[in-house]
Order: sequence, then structure tokens, then C-alpha cells
Amino acid sequence: MARCKYCQKEITWMKEGRKNVPVEADGGIHKCEQMLKMRSSLKTIQPTTLSPEEIAKYEQGMNQQVKEKAEKKAKKK
Ligand SMILES: [Zn+2]
Repeated sequence: MARCKYCQKEITWMKEGRKNVPVEADGGIHKCEQMLKMRSSLKTIQPTTLSPEEIAKYEQGMNQQVKEKAEKKAKKK
């Protein structure tokens, strides 16, 4: 048992694919206003809180990953 960090209700975290889903005692997915508010504000704030430097770093990392994959593929042949 865990507690929703937004409304303190008892919930269980269930793994669903890649994400954790909060489930209430009755088996339904837990949703509360506080959580929804937090999530929607995160979505709108996140892109602007990243500095251009951080974005460039992130993009560089992505490019690097793509490059490495391509190189691995090329080596196999
Ligand atoms: Zn909650």
C-alpha cells in the first residue's frame, strides 16, 4: 500500500507497461484533482524550464544513440 502524494488516499502502484498506474482499493484507477492539476502544470511548464543548453544536450544524446545503433548494424554485416 502506498499513499497518493497529492491527496493522501491509499493506493497501490500497478505496473502497466512502462508506466506505474495508481490503483484504488476497489481496483479502479485512482485520479484526483490534485494529481491532474500537477500533471497538467508539469506538462505546460517542462518545455520552458529546459534551457537551450539542456535541449541541445538532449538532442545530442538522441543523435548519438541513433548513430551508435547504425554503427552496430553496419558491424553485423
Ligand atoms: Zn490522489
